Amino acid sequence: MRELADILEEVKGTIAEACRKAGRSPDEVTIVGVTKTHGPEVVREAWEAGIRIFGENKVQEAAWKIPESVSGPDWHLIGHLQRNKVRAALELFSTIHSVDSLRLLEQIERVAEETGHRPEILLEVNVSGEASKDGLPPDQVPEVIEAALNARNVTLTGLMTMAPFAPDPETVRPVFARLREYRDKWESEFGIGLPRLSMGMTHDYRVAVEEGATWVRLGTVLFGERPKWKPQPLPEE
Ligand SMILES: *Cc1c(COP(=O)(O)O)cnc(C)c1O
Repeated sequence: MRELADILEEVKGTIAEACRKAGRSPDEVTIVGVTKTHGPEVVREAWEAGIRIFGENKVQEAAWKIPESVSGPDWHLIGHLQRNKVRAALELFSTIHSVDSLRLLEQIERVAEETGHRPEILLEVNVSGEASKDGLPPDQVPEVIEAALNARNVTLTGLMTMAPFAPDPETVRPVFARLREYRDKWESEFGIGLPRLSMGMTHDYRVAVEEGATWVRLGTVLFGERPKWKPQPLPEE
């Protein structure tokens, strides 16, 4: 097994090289360590290696894992959020990358108002139009931006997308480029800043960084193949 610290250096090198090609500063890009299905020991090791933001895709799994890990990380929800789990999600996560409907945004605002949480949110956009992917179709995004700007308890800071898997990541470059173009367009239409672009995973982060990613969500490249997640036993009475 290679040391996580060495792998991390290599990944940072790839990010730096992609930034150089694109005329960006590597400081603009932050790694979100995706620890889904991994245990708390992986979080602890990654924390020691210097990762400060962790991404999980399931509320229930995170509810078990976060208290077992280490205090300090900033936890982000990167997977689809059901409205009946918003309350639990706001207890666990500072940031939700995957706001993918107006009704979900409204529920987050309602619960945040009630509980005093002030989540940061991104809107997940289905740029590629794949039916199987979560995310808002681009033509529905403006009304959700409007609603987010009127909401007093959430802060909209950017956009997220997931590219379809393609053997050659160059194939999905247009997906990342389009998310950046939409961002620029909505920034000027609404007169707001949307500085965060959450895009790029193990397979395609180099291309995503070249196209403007500020948060890359990395699991496999850092932590290896994912074990199958086993639901944890309930704590003993
Ligand atoms: C699992 C997951 C990732 C990380 O995927 P890798 O290919 O292992 O890097 C990133 N984003 C989301 C939304 C995920 O669910």
